[in-house]
Amino acid sequence: MSAAKRQPEDLAELGGPCLFERPRPVSNLARPDFGRIAAYARQAVQAHTFSDHGPLATRLEQALAHFHETPHCVSFSSGFWALGLAMRALARPGAREVVMPALTYRRMADIAAWAGLTPRFCEVDALRMTNTADCAAPCVGEDTALLLGVHPICGLADIAGLQALAARTSVPLLFDSVESVYERSPAGRIGGFGAAEVFSLGASKLINGFEGGYVTTHDPRLADQLRTHGRHFPLHELHAAMALASLEELDTQVHHNRLRYEAYQDGLAGQDGLRLVPFDPADRPAYKNILVELTDGWGLARDLTLRLLHAEGVLARAYYPQPLHRQAMSYPHIPARLPVSEWLAGRYLLLPCGEQVSLADVRTITGLLAFLGQHAPALQQRLAPREHP
Ligand SMILES: *Cc1c(COP(=O)(O)O)cnc(C)c1O
Repeated sequence: MSAAKRQPEDLAELGGPCLFERPRPVSNLARPDFGRIAAYARQAVQAHTFSDHGPLATRLEQALAHFHETPHCVSFSSGFWALGLAMRALARPGAREVVMPALTYRRMADIAAWAGLTPRFCEVDALRMTNTADCAAPCVGEDTALLLGVHPICGLADIAGLQALAARTSVPLLFDSVESVYERSPAGRIGGFGAAEVFSLGASKLINGFEGGYVTTHDPRLADQLRTHGRHFPLHELHAAMALASLEELDTQVHHNRLRYEAYQDGLAGQDGLRLVPFDPADRPAYKNILVELTDGWGLARDLTLRLLHAEGVLARAYYPQPLHRQAMSYPHIPARLPVSEWLAGRYLLLPCGEQVSLADVRTITGLLAFLGQHAPALQQRLAPREHP
């Protein structure tokens, strides 16, 4: 590892040596034991089934249904298509709008448009960082086809509130549960709430299938419909092999995630201006995402903070770079003014996590953040883009 920083000139952005020659990602990139992956893959190759819902995809669906304690699980080639097909299957006939939080997965509005629906963005709760029932209720009306609840990247969605709102208004409720795949709520395992829940098996998620997604539900008719409509978006057998291997190692992975999270907790304790967003052990969290709020005491703009970190090989990411209602959209949508979402979108970043990041790396990263905090006023003055009046 390169030498520690003593003065601002030691920062890579100012010509000093870079802390990490191999950059440290905020993507999980879990890598299950190769022997395990190969053993599953051999079954697929020997069975001569390479795609289209072969025996491994079926076995994975069974394992995931068991894992989430739901009767049905339907797999797809990605979380994106799982969401699109679930939205299309669930939308109330004759109504057009999908109520979704403005702070969420960046393609969510595109998915609604693909499903033939119109995104209606609602505000998010400042603490939960996603849409609660109180946030969503003002947007639910005659033309609401679907209510989308999204689990935030730390903590849980307002499951009970959203379910009550859906029941009161007779609008179907779909959860994007990608970020809470491992969690448990007081009312049960994530996977069994609303009309259906959607998950991803992308490489940056907790369960890595290279690519892939799935839907869990209690509704056998919905499961059948999704299977029929989903046959053009199948999960391939080698992806199922990877996901099965990843699933077997999940508890070990979560244990490592927790150690990394605790190392961040130690390293950031007492750091002015940075607040590590805590996990609640009651949710049985997976401890994957390391989310940090830049509070008013942090003397550097978020974009400048990111620039300085990237130069060192710390690939931190803005969370979220932009609320959805501020993105350019070429399809119909409902304009909105959402001050809480806009405020939150400028204050948070994700720090490196996952199997590519060691505990020593975490100490290096928190040490770098302490250094940046110490020199914040000077760095801000020297490096911030000039404001044009
Ligand atoms: C990644 C992600 C998706 C999409 O899943 P893909 O498998 O990448 O298509 C959807 N929702 C959330 C919250 C995500 O993080």
